[in-house]
Amino acid sequence: MKKLNNITSKGIFVEDPITDHFGRTFNYVRIAVNEYCNLRCIYCMPEEGVPFQKKDRHLVKDEIFTIIKLMEEMGVSKVRFTGGEPLIRKDIIDLIQFVYKKTDIPSIHLTTNGVLLPDYIDRLVDSGLNGINISLDTLNNEKFKKITRREGLDKVLEGLHLAINSEIKSIKVNIVAMKDFNDDEILDFVELTRDNDITVRFIELMPFDSHQIWKTGKFYKAEKIVNQLKSSFNQLDLVNGSSTEHHIFKIKNYKGKVAVIPSYTRSLCGGCNRIRITADGKLLNCLYSQKETNIRDAIRSGIPENKIKNLIRGAMQKKLKDGWTAQNEGKDQRESMTQIGG
Ligand code: SAM
Ligand code: SF4
Repeated sequence: MKKLNNITSKGIFVEDPITDHFGRTFNYVRIAVNEYCNLRCIYCMPEEGVPFQKKDRHLVKDEIFTIIKLMEEMGVSKVRFTGGEPLIRKDIIDLIQFVYKKTDIPSIHLTTNGVLLPDYIDRLVDSGLNGINISLDTLNNEKFKKITRREGLDKVLEGLHLAINSEIKSIKVNIVAMKDFNDDEILDFVELTRDNDITVRFIELMPFDSHQIWKTGKFYKAEKIVNQLKSSFNQLDLVNGSSTEHHIFKIKNYKGKVAVIPSYTRSLCGGCNRIRITADGKLLNCLYSQKETNIRDAIRSGIPENKIKNLIRGAMQKKLKDGWTAQNEGKDQRESMTQIGG
């Protein structure tokens, strides 16, 4: 009998989906399309940037197409473009259109800091994108400059407004929760869900920057946010969300949803369905993994596609039980989330 795991969301039977030893199936790929960024968020990149790799190490458009096609053949039904800032990659619209027009992958998403959204929104709508996650940690202009080391809050808010009023169905706002920085804005962000059908998601700070600002007492635990929400709203309904949205609520009579993601405390690994591809074409089987598999060089060497598929399957098979085990596996290699894509 066919296993349910082998049926994609379009009802297509996949002979041999990507799985691991712990019974997880991987049907969601996140591709970082560059390392560069127009902001310098203090928890992500130092002011001077990170040692960016030479351009020829980055995946080119055709290599990204190849990866997406192979992934689709192995049952992947969701693609997210991230970075760095994906909207500063010149061919971002071509990448989205490729998934929309040349594959049957039903779910195409983008994670952006939102600064360029006002310039891109029409083209994003036309390209077939289904969802945009906008990263925005504060609604206060001075704090925005402090956290991103750049101007741009007005652009992000304009972009958010345009996205909400566009045909793109799923709009989420990602907030990295930080003690004594934006813990006093949690309820302001929740208010955005009163009249807008969006999801506001509070995410734990993670140890992914060379300056290790997460060690400076800014960490704010998911559980604390959940408790704050519970004590502020007595009519909080539990609703369904994506696999990482461990706590997801709807406030009575509000249009949108509120989610809390324990990305550092990592109580979400059992349901992980993600494959990560870095801007330089390495596959990571876990956000916290210290080991990478070089898909870029495999493609560039011209080996047959079934061998590349086996490489991908093999790397995912080796996924460790959870992010804690993966982190303990070895020394940190990457200096910034901008190289991984979040
Ligand atoms: N530039 C885009 C953006 O900011 O949305 C996409 C790339 S960014 C690396 C992806 C996500 O990673 C953002 O939501 C950002 O807030 C998050 N991120 C970066 N560094 C982080 C850290 N140290 N802890 C938690 N989240 C982090
Ligand atoms: Fe850029 Fe996103 Fe990193 Fe901020 S979190 S510096 S916007 S890549």
